[in-house]
Amino acid sequence: MSNDTVRIMCPNLTCRKVLAVPTSARGKTVRCRNCSTNIRVPEPAAQSETKDGKSSDPKAA
Ligand SMILES: [Zn+2]
Repeated sequence: MSNDTVRIMCPNLTCRKVLAVPTSARGKTVRCRNCSTNIRVPEPAAQSETKDGKSSDPKAA
């Protein structure tokens, strides 16, 4: 299930629209369709508890 979507809520208090963006948009900024506010898509949080601190992410910035 890698074709998942991320749900983020618009930070605009007068909007608060829930946007579903593809996981590929993580770390990027999307624009709310409703109010045109730029919303940063959060990086993937650890889905399961990381037992060891090994990060095998090749794109670790
Ligand atoms: Zn909005």
